[in-house]
Amino acid sequence: MLEFIQIQKSYGATRVLSDISERVEAGEVVVVCGPSGSGKSTLIRTVNRLESIDSGRIIVNGQDVHAAGKDLNSLRAGIGFVFQQFNLFPHCSALENVMMAPMSVRGTTRAEAREQAQELLARVGLAHKSQCFPGELSGGQQQRVAIARTLAMKPPLILFDEPTSALDPEMVGEVLAVMKDLARQGMTMVCVTHEMGFAREVADKVWFLDAGRVLERATPEAFFNTPQHPRAQKFLSDTH
Ligand code: ATP
Ligand code: MG
Repeated sequence: MLEFIQIQKSYGATRVLSDISERVEAGEVVVVCGPSGSGKSTLIRTVNRLESIDSGRIIVNGQDVHAAGKDLNSLRAGIGFVFQQFNLFPHCSALENVMMAPMSVRGTTRAEAREQAQELLARVGLAHKSQCFPGELSGGQQQRVAIARTLAMKPPLILFDEPTSALDPEMVGEVLAVMKDLARQGMTMVCVTHEMGFAREVADKVWFLDAGRVLERATPEAFFNTPQHPRAQKFLSDTH
């Protein structure tokens, strides 16, 4: 489903991704963790070309993402991305936010987009908030609208970059619950998160990044109980 093949990336003289070769199978949930500045965001942002790479290849569903001449819009339409900041359109209702992309990118009719958006808002527990504007919603509710908006494009793969980090603690659970639900339904997900409880419970694999390298890839059980790399051991003892 997703394959990184010998990815290298630098900013000037600073190497931020170093020889990354990893695979994600369809239906898998991968949690990416590691210290601040280790390259987690950069890594997942390369997948939909929010970041370029210097060398290597990234294959998503058989397609070479960074190949010359790829249409960025159609590429991004097939790869969901959920950001820390939800980036909803402030002057559109929750329902309109979810309807917009299928109508403009896929040519879905308004009636069809509306029906689908209502279903998706119900799926994230927000059927009753469909007419609210983002400013009338809590952070957790806005993030759930953002997830519904992503789902509206029916992506086979969703990338999450710290989706709960901007939320007040009491709202983290409701967003993680939606993500768990997606995982249970077989969505392929790569999640950068500091929520180690989520990683333990939901992840099929954990990747530990440090200084642009994946130093450890393991099941959550192995990673949390018997981390192999000294840096992973230190990371876990610092964060617990
Ligand atoms: P955090 O946990 O704080 O979000 P991260 O693991 O997501 O960190 P990245 O944002 O991927 O880390 O950054 C990796 C490295 O690349 C860092 O050293 C950062 O300073 C550097 N970096 C990121 N973006 C740029 C940029 N646009 N220009 C120069 N350096 C950058
Ligand atoms: Mg980051």
